[in-house]
Amino acid sequence: MTAPLIDPFQRRIEYLRLSVTDRCDFRCVYCMSENMTFLPKKELLTLEELDRLCSAFIRLGVRKLRITGGEPLVRRDILSFFRSISRHLETGSLDELTLTTNGSQLEKHATDLAAAGVRRINVSLDTLDEAKFAEITRWGRLPQVLRGLDAAQGAGLRVKLNAVALKGFNEDELLTLTQFCAARGMDLTWIEVMPMGDIGNENRLGQYWSLKDLRADLARHYTLTDLPHRTGGPARYVRLEETGQQIGFITPLSHNFCESCNRVRVTCTGTIYTCLGQEGHSDLRAPLRASEADAGLEDAIRAAIALKPKGHDFDYSRQQVDGQVSRHMSHTGG
Ligand code: SAM
Ligand code: SF4
Repeated sequence: MTAPLIDPFQRRIEYLRLSVTDRCDFRCVYCMSENMTFLPKKELLTLEELDRLCSAFIRLGVRKLRITGGEPLVRRDILSFFRSISRHLETGSLDELTLTTNGSQLEKHATDLAAAGVRRINVSLDTLDEAKFAEITRWGRLPQVLRGLDAAQGAGLRVKLNAVALKGFNEDELLTLTQFCAARGMDLTWIEVMPMGDIGNENRLGQYWSLKDLRADLARHYTLTDLPHRTGGPARYVRLEETGQQIGFITPLSHNFCESCNRVRVTCTGTIYTCLGQEGHSDLRAPLRASEADAGLEDAIRAAIALKPKGHDFDYSRQQVDGQVSRHMSHTGG
């Protein structure tokens, strides 16, 4: 029997977020600069290697797998990866296979994702205004994403929207986004903007809209009931009594969540980051490629988990951005 993955702070690691590409068809201003340099393709793990890696984590007790990026659905032939990984759902060794996407390719892929066993997806959408959408994503077009949402819901996928809370940008859409989601039976999670990577001239502090303020605004219009359930991540949830929908708040900055963290992240090059907010990482690609047997890979995974830090150091409270990490969110995956 394989021993589960337990870190030095007795947290059991059951959730893997895997970035399958650093590329994207959008250039969201808080995530990327307009002229990004992407990794040479040979640096990336092949789809077969990604499968082997995930399968090793699943053998070691990971029960939930979220595929992210960059934009995961722009990776060539990514549906074959989903179809292959879904065997772990069928055997019962994996509880959930899910995805975070900008929605641009959903019209094309939603039916196949559902057929591969995906039940729920997160779609990132910060505004319902076409001009603002083009401004914030630089390269994205809102109607394409809305068609993607239709396709996903049409295929029976449960959709949750993720919106980054941006001061002076979508503050005025708090109610329209809430109502849009309520009308479509979707939950909505707000994310505080995090200091990840060099993004050119954008000002992080200028972008920061505290979710405490957002929550207070929401409470002026709806009755909020705190929900007890935790996902092991930074999200806290409330129910809006008037609509029944769940609203999540991901607050890595104004609220620390590390004590219950059950997750690790792996990049498309096979680097494992055991904390989103720390630079510490280990390479899994070399042990993966060193042998066709998985013993060395499993040892490397255990060794990396043994170094998982207690928590992150993001802090805006002194009116400067502390704890910034140099990599982009699109590198580690959100
Ligand atoms: N491309 C996909 C998408 O946009 O959903 C998946 C990858 S994206 C990096 C994952 C999530 O990270 C998105 O919801 C995005 O809004 C969020 N994100 C990116 N940069 C961020 C930042 N600096 N602070 C907070 N959230 C960020
Ligand atoms: Fe692409 Fe997602 Fe980053 Fe936007 S947030 S640039 S969609 S990876």
